[in-house]
Amino acid sequence: MADQVLRGSCLCKAVRYEVWPPFLRFTHCYCSRCRKATGGVRATNIAVNPDQFRWISGEELISRYDLPEARSFATAICTSCNCPVPRPSRDRERVIVPAGTLDEEPPGKPSAHRQWGSRVGWAAIDESHLPCEE
Ligand SMILES: [Zn+2]
Ligand SMILES: [Zn+2]
Repeated sequence: MADQVLRGSCLCKAVRYEVWPPFLRFTHCYCSRCRKATGGVRATNIAVNPDQFRWISGEELISRYDLPEARSFATAICTSCNCPVPRPSRDRERVIVPAGTLDEEPPGKPSAHRQWGSRVGWAAIDESHLPCEE
């Protein structure tokens, strides 16, 4: 089960990918950049080694934005439906997968609330058993 391939896609299904556990990281992030990038209270991202990720289709539709003042923050969307899609980290050492784009249940749950100190006042969670990291 732990090494079962998981499929994911964008809203319009043009961009499709496969990702393999185990994950390097599976966490919520509450920083202001993640709020902007998602339009929500937090981003929930999975990080894997590049050899645990494969594009199935639509890679040519992806538009990437590297935030100039950030060390590594970036966003990537499908230009057909504007849905967030996976992206390699700037150093290419991992692939960041927006967990909400998975079409199948990943093994396990997020392990932490990152950038908890940057959360907005209306951030409400029901995973209060998770560690809260600044
Ligand atoms: Zn799409
Ligand atoms: Zn963040």
